Amino acid sequence: MRILVTNDDGIHAPGLRALVEALRDVGEVTVVAPERERSAISHAITMTEPLRAWPVGGFDAPAWAVSGTPVDCVLLAVKELMPEPPDVVAAGINRGANIGEDVWYSGTVSAAREGGLLGYPALAFSVTGFTGLDFRAAAACARRLVPLAAERLPADTILNVNVPNLPPDRVGPIVLCTQGRRHYRSTFEQRQDPRGGTYYWLGAGQPIDEPIDGTDVAAIAAGRIAVTPICLDVGPHPRWDDLAAWLNGSL
Ligand code: MN
Repeated sequence: MRILVTNDDGIHAPGLRALVEALRDVGEVTVVAPERERSAISHAITMTEPLRAWPVGGFDAPAWAVSGTPVDCVLLAVKELMPEPPDVVAAGINRGANIGEDVWYSGTVSAAREGGLLGYPALAFSVTGFTGLDFRAAAACARRLVPLAAERLPADTILNVNVPNLPPDRVGPIVLCTQGRRHYRSTFEQRQDPRGGTYYWLGAGQPIDEPIDGTDVAAIAAGRIAVTPICLDVGPHPRWDDLAAWLNGSL
């Protein structure tokens, strides 16, 4: 089994190394990852400047650093760098949760989504902390889920996997979830630079999580591993009839 491993925290991130080491016995790993951190870059691709890729040592697997985004990495890996296409794409292990609305911003989830759009089974892995990270439970989870997904994952579906940042013996079971609700409040800090200019720094403040049963947000709060399927075919809206009546009645 050929496994493409990427991330959005960059080629030097400890979580990437943890995922590569976790999957080394599972299949033939190829690493293609951004040269630097590109967290929260979402599904961006690079179209107005060249992309460069160069081999990187120290992974016990073929590895490339890429000057672009996580989605660039997946595209470049599949179209140019890998001699044979992957059987499965695994992104992570991300530093920080990707639950609720994080999914829209995450470069890690987007890398998996690109794998899915290209027709490969794909998974994103994240650990729900920023400091004192313990990747062991997420690594064990990846070893179990990556071969399962490679064997059988419904079409147009990727898996977004979030693992509590706890020692493995304190992590609960794997549960299937829906995408939950998480809200970010005051998100900017205004500061002064040394020349008196104002600048803003995004990302200050903790999000508010809604503990709705059955969601990734609630599973993580309970110390469980959240496996959230993400559908790539957005399909008919659940309130299609209401919307059709609204639009038709308004025109
Ligand atoms: Mn990240």
